[in-house]
Amino acid sequence: MDFELNDDQVAYIETARQFAAKAMAPKAAEWDAGAIFPKDVLREAGELGFMALYTPEDVGGMGLSRLDSSLIFEELAGGCTSTAAYMTIHNMALWMIASFGTEAIREQFCPKLISGETLASYCLTEPGAGSDAASLRTTARIDGDEYVLNGQKMFISGAGDTDVLVVMARVADGDGPRPGAKGISSFVVPADTAGISFGRKEEKMGWNSQPTRAITFEDARIPAGNRLGAEGEGFKIAMKGLDGGRINIATTAVGTAQAALDTSARYVQERQQFGGPISQFQSVQFKLADMATELVAARQMVRMAASRLDAGHPEATVYCAMAKRFATDVAFEVCNEAVQLHGGYGYIREYPLERHLRDVRVHQILEGTNEIMRVIISRRVLMEGATEVIR
Ligand SMILES: Cc1cc2nc3c(=O)[nH]c(=O)nc-3n(C[C@H](O)[C@H](O)[C@H](O)COP(=O)(O)OP(=O)(O)OC[C@H]3O[C@@H](n4cnc5c(N)ncnc54)[C@H](O)[C@@H]3O)c2cc1C
Repeated sequence: MDFELNDDQVAYIETARQFAAKAMAPKAAEWDAGAIFPKDVLREAGELGFMALYTPEDVGGMGLSRLDSSLIFEELAGGCTSTAAYMTIHNMALWMIASFGTEAIREQFCPKLISGETLASYCLTEPGAGSDAASLRTTARIDGDEYVLNGQKMFISGAGDTDVLVVMARVADGDGPRPGAKGISSFVVPADTAGISFGRKEEKMGWNSQPTRAITFEDARIPAGNRLGAEGEGFKIAMKGLDGGRINIATTAVGTAQAALDTSARYVQERQQFGGPISQFQSVQFKLADMATELVAARQMVRMAASRLDAGHPEATVYCAMAKRFATDVAFEVCNEAVQLHGGYGYIREYPLERHLRDVRVHQILEGTNEIMRVIISRRVLMEGATEVIR
């Protein structure tokens, strides 16, 4: 068992840290306040490979492991949580296209997505199907050599500003929509396809540097070849995407909390009250100690889950759920304590703490709520002999 980073990993972290510090952190408050989606910076990120970190090399991606990718995403989140989180969603959608698309589809879509010239969205959630995603009702009716999409998606990150949609829909034929999770297929859909429209940009608590919109499909036609994987495999593919996605959501939460901790450790040594720095108080020291301890635990858990995903561990899904649950809860608490340590200054926009808190809150909700993570974990733990395996 080796807990040390190798030379390559140290170099990845350094490159990502520099990019975050130069291209993201100075602008993050402005993007948040103005709800600006920084496509130019995403393009720059593409030049460094950050938009295709774990996309296979044979199609032009970086081909990194999930573990190495998580190190990079953590650093990027230290620059801007919301923008780094969008990058992770783009990476997830691109990985699905590169892994399950035909050769023609890979050639058509991947190069521009890899460079960041075009951007992707992952479209699973619907107004009536959130946690119970397998109950989705968007249909893909077979019509000759085309599928015809009808239905609505909700809360789609990037929607309205992205170019390529990875859409999960229920295949329908003369007998109607196919039932259950096995009735679902996934498709790659150009966002400018006739019959697609976008809802208004949602006004959100955080994640303001990326738009979130509903999408409506009204007789939107796509070639049959745009299906990813076999018919009926879409839900499985969507969940495979989310295993990695949950590592990403967890690691970006850790990166945000690390930034909040770093700022707090500096601040308590500068802020003077009662004749000295507030770091003189043991309660302040202990708070920092707990923040640092829990953050290290969260980081190690994320890295373990990422390694297990890389190794094809049979219980990788459970470890990804554990990492997402634990790391996002810890990160929220660390960011909240950081606000407290800054007193009134933590609550105003001049300092980044309140933004960190607002941004990281949604990490407990999306890509499966933390309650759904508990459903995944407890279902496995209650199986015969599970505690011999999950440890
Ligand atoms: C900013 C933002 C961006 C998003 N981006 C995307 C995206 O890009 N693509 C996409 O497809 N989706 C996206 N989502 C959707 C997100 O994944 C869903 O909001 C999430 O899965 C929860 O679904 P829901 O909102 O319908 O809540 P619901 O499923 O209605 O849940 C409401 C509450 O009930 C609880 N609950 C539900 N079922 C159970 C259960 N079995 N046991 C215990 N508790 C339960 C939940 O934990 C939650 O607390 C995004 C959401 C937000 C807010």
